[in-house]
Amino acid sequence: MTLLIAGGTVIGPTGAIAADVLVDGETIAAVLAPGTGPSEGVEVVDASGKYVIPGGIDAHTHMELPFGGTAASDTFDTGTRAAAHGGTTTIIDFAVQRTGEVVHDGLAAWHAKADGNCHIDYAFHMILGGVDDDSLKAMDQLVADEGVTSFKLFMAYPGVFYSDDGQILRAMQKARDNGSMIMMHAENGIAIDVLVRQALARGETDPIYHGITRPEALEAEATHRAIALAEVAQDCPLYIVHLSASRALEHVAAARDAGRNVFAETCPQYLYLTLEDQLGAPGFEGAKWVCSTPLRSKHENHQRDLWRGLRSNDLAIVSTDHCPFCFKDQKELGVGDFSKIPNGIGGVEHRVDLVYQGVVDGKLSLERWVETISTTPARMFGLYPKKGVIAPGSDADIVLYDPNGRTRISVETHHMNMDHSAYEGYEIAGKVDTVLSRGEVIVSDGAYHGAKGRGRYLRRGLSSYLV
Ligand SMILES: [Zn+2]
Ligand SMILES: [Zn+2]
Repeated sequence: MTLLIAGGTVIGPTGAIAADVLVDGETIAAVLAPGTGPSEGVEVVDASGKYVIPGGIDAHTHMELPFGGTAASDTFDTGTRAAAHGGTTTIIDFAVQRTGEVVHDGLAAWHAKADGNCHIDYAFHMILGGVDDDSLKAMDQLVADEGVTSFKLFMAYPGVFYSDDGQILRAMQKARDNGSMIMMHAENGIAIDVLVRQALARGETDPIYHGITRPEALEAEATHRAIALAEVAQDCPLYIVHLSASRALEHVAAARDAGRNVFAETCPQYLYLTLEDQLGAPGFEGAKWVCSTPLRSKHENHQRDLWRGLRSNDLAIVSTDHCPFCFKDQKELGVGDFSKIPNGIGGVEHRVDLVYQGVVDGKLSLERWVETISTTPARMFGLYPKKGVIAPGSDADIVLYDPNGRTRISVETHHMNMDHSAYEGYEIAGKVDTVLSRGEVIVSDGAYHGAKGRGRYLRRGLSSYLV
């Protein structure tokens, strides 16, 4: 089928232009001067008054992630459907190798969870929970044969996912050799565990102590250490995930100023939510916002600095770290002991809107909005130009965004499998109007037309930010 998206404003890396977009089957056939497209044999989608942007790419999700005796409450079915509602047409989820497990088994398990269940296209990063000779060999195989070109390591969670500095260095050396990207959870988990034990011994059990025992200094220290280790590994490509705080950002900015292959993402929760207002909510309520890295204090300038980092490209991407847990029975595992609260916030449905609100608030340009939610993730993780841009030959993953619409975020209206919303009551001065995934209209007029199983696995290439 041929579609003509007519009358809209196409936003891309080269700016905002009035253009019509011709879609043939699953791909974009042409970007045309307004009114110059075919008038017969096409179905016209009226985009007047709308922004026409490449579909969102959420480069950091955790569908069905086992954590702390439970599992993230969104399946690949419910989570990718919610993503589609919010204008995200690709996710990159994290397959998991736990300590002691075989890397290929972890990847196979993730394919089994996702296969036949996704509403939108998907790819995988690989979490390495144990760096040894076997997993280093597996890194080469995943890059060469499986389309998995990025590997997440943890400086936190001793005994679960933690890698020591020697293991990190070996994985970085391997990544330097095969061109892949090391993604780092940069928090000093050894020190954090001491603080957690001390807090609990003092009877400090409320959710806010989750944040207090993960101080900014231990994110900054780990970020700096990761950057130093990557330097020793011949400037191995390094991507800091879920960066939450000013001082960690300063280390990333300094490395980038020095011309290093260092990149970072932040997440909407760090741009909007705080230690005091959310994590410190009365009683056990704050458990809804327990995530790691934690929400930071509103009495410092983290949010201002993160928005500035997005403008300056010291922060390249906004991902969600979508890892939802219901309040009832899941978050409640940590009543009386914050260290037992499953870590994670759900937000895959709201990222496009929440970053757009930054445009409305004058913190970000339209072009940076599109770059940080779509174009840069595609380039960073080897999906470009198939994804992340409106150009001839690219997949027709397209969102019509209505700057005159409004979105009110609430558990009453969201599609994620959660019994609460981390952004309950937030109003966005904009709205996802229509969503196309590979040429198929899957969301329009608030109605859903997609289907489970239509999403395809994407084999990724290497990052296009490296030469
Ligand atoms: Zn993490
Ligand atoms: Zn994560």
